[in-house]
Amino acid sequence: MTGNDRTDGGPIGPRLGVLIGDGIGPEIVPAAVAVADAAVAAAGAAPLEWHPLPIGASAIDENGTPTPAATLDALAALDGWVLGPHDSAAYPEPFRSQLNPSGTVRRHFGLYANIRPAVAFSGARAVVPGMDLVVVRENTEGFYADRNTVAGTGEFMPSPDVAIALGVFTRTAVRRIAVTAFELARRRRRRVTVVHKANVLRLTMGLFRDVCREVGRDYPDVAVDDLHIDAATVHLVRRGADFDVVVTENMFGDVLSDLAGELAGSLGTAPSLNTSDDRAMAQAAHGSAPDIAGRDVANPIAMMLSTAMLLEWLGDRRGDAVLRDAGYRVHAAVRSTVVRGITTPDLGGSTTTSGFTAAVVAELAAGG
Ligand code: ATP
Repeated sequence: MTGNDRTDGGPIGPRLGVLIGDGIGPEIVPAAVAVADAAVAAAGAAPLEWHPLPIGASAIDENGTPTPAATLDALAALDGWVLGPHDSAAYPEPFRSQLNPSGTVRRHFGLYANIRPAVAFSGARAVVPGMDLVVVRENTEGFYADRNTVAGTGEFMPSPDVAIALGVFTRTAVRRIAVTAFELARRRRRRVTVVHKANVLRLTMGLFRDVCREVGRDYPDVAVDDLHIDAATVHLVRRGADFDVVVTENMFGDVLSDLAGELAGSLGTAPSLNTSDDRAMAQAAHGSAPDIAGRDVANPIAMMLSTAMLLEWLGDRRGDAVLRDAGYRVHAAVRSTVVRGITTPDLGGSTTTSGFTAAVVAELAAGG
């Protein structure tokens, strides 16, 4: 049902899964859904068809596992989905020690690219006010032991006092993440920074740096430089506004994108899209924030912008300019709401999650 007609004659939009998740998920995911619906209506696109599916702590209670096979099967038949955060550290054993829900979904669908923008908002406080970069994080290997082997994990303990972790780097995976980064740079300010630690991890990180450089030769219109991860953290703080696209391996990308998100204002504004060549999953870059869950203070911006990225990705794939426009409208409405001084506490304001969401929906309805 991905065509343009339904039996009653009206157009249908994408069929999207909605996975609420844990912690602040029940607050920020419905907020993102409400804003996406309002943007689609404002753009004149066909309505989105949402499919709620169980995941996380509630799925343990109801289905006996945090990532039910039925959820994965249902996702396979949809056009994309929105994944809320999970608090897998709080799950009872054996689930706490198993691959967490987002890792399971990323692995199941081969979502190899994690696209994480960090953009400062005018009108909100930021450590680096001019920041406008995208971290392109490799999502399937590196040192993340829960996803770098086909069976078992890349972490083991030969004795109680010795723990070993494997880092896996393959030409194929580095090449495809590098292509993602360079293609993205072409649609932005045409600059890619490769972040690695090839001075110490000469073979693994050396392969990462060299393959990224090789791919860069196919993009003579894109400027390339590279930084060691330690230097990259310094340069991000000191001159974060200079960066455009940062491509890096899994663990460095996880850390750098949190840093960049916070430097741009708040981790609560940092969206992400996980993609393969034919699937996409919207997921905020932050976690489930159990410390603020249930208090109506979480910033829903990251979840809203992640969902907007999904609409834009689907619009590009379908050649649907109206759907793409709906995504742009979410970005614009969030920005103008923040400019009006309406922000949650993490950005220095006193608006609630629900109050901010209502303001963005009103902005969209007003054509903003
Ligand atoms: P994970 O390992 O799942 O990524 P984490 O332990 O890194 O999670 P987060 O849940 O991302 O941690 O939270 C880190 C800090 O950022 C917490 O203090 C949290 O309250 C804050 N935070 C995260 N997301 C938001 C948000 N949407 N709005 C406001 N504060 C947030």
